[in-house]
Amino acid sequence: MSGRHSKQDLERTPDDDILRKLEGHWDKSPTRALRWRKKVDVRELDCNGTPGWDGDRDDAERLVAAHAFELAQLQERLFAHGRSGGSRSVLLVLQGLDTAGKGGIVRHVVGLVDPQGVQHRAFGVPTAEEASHGYLWRIRNALPRPGYIGVFDRSHYEQVLVVRVDGLEPEETWRAHYEEINAFEAEVAAAGTVIVKVALLVSRDEQKARLRERLDRPEKHWKYNPGDLAARARFGDYLDAYQEMLEQTSTDVAAWHVVPADRKWFARLAVTELLLDALRSLDLGWPPADFDVAEQRRLLDET
Ligand code: AMP
Ligand code: MG
Repeated sequence: MSGRHSKQDLERTPDDDILRKLEGHWDKSPTRALRWRKKVDVRELDCNGTPGWDGDRDDAERLVAAHAFELAQLQERLFAHGRSGGSRSVLLVLQGLDTAGKGGIVRHVVGLVDPQGVQHRAFGVPTAEEASHGYLWRIRNALPRPGYIGVFDRSHYEQVLVVRVDGLEPEETWRAHYEEINAFEAEVAAAGTVIVKVALLVSRDEQKARLRERLDRPEKHWKYNPGDLAARARFGDYLDAYQEMLEQTSTDVAAWHVVPADRKWFARLAVTELLLDALRSLDLGWPPADFDVAEQRRLLDET
């Protein structure tokens, strides 16, 4: 993708025929194509694949551009709904190993909507204050308010990923988190939040190439963390942890989606479409005026 779309692109409703043709590259709805299914083993996933999609990069970028308008419109409706006392919100949970492209998704996909309506939060190693509370404390504090799209770059799932792989808690402790997380997410969903969970899967080879690029380019050094090599050394353990996370926490109210991430353009298309499906599922109209429009028009005319 060549970066943001111009204002003009966003304001132009795409030609229906072109849109249908681009959407036709999906063989089923993206949400269905990407939803994790019991037989899917991430250890055998083709991270270079484009499941459900038979278009090329150009088609993908054109579809993202074509859907950007609807995405922005639906986000504005959600925001208006929140302003008028509604309870709905969306939570996009992004999990992925270093270099999987979480930051790029935030820039390129979430960047398509009005930042005013986005609550973005990246979760790193817990601070002293965060560590003094239960692991869901900082998560609860970051949940999207009504009307907002919340975006988690990493999440409570680190508690069954890095915590497991690095042995930061005994097994019986981190194992108990699966059930706790399912109960927590059921509560969040019941309060009106549509939860979209995305596991971005980068291959070992592609991760190496991306880490090398971070070393080769001074403007990327800030992204490189020598500790990433320790995580990389446990790549297989992480995949085991991802697999069990999917098996234990993909529920009806908060399903996981598996997105192969070696091709950035596909990951960006996939998450754009998942977010769009989530916003569509809210089925929100514009909130009705809570004032007398005719009267206000008359009063305005008199000014
Ligand atoms: P980055 O996303 O590159 O800024 O890295 C954030 C780091 O924080 C990663 O190494 C994560 O594994 C780590 N991290 C996030 N959440 C936790 C957690 N709950 N416990 C320990 N480490 C965490
Ligand atoms: Mg990092």
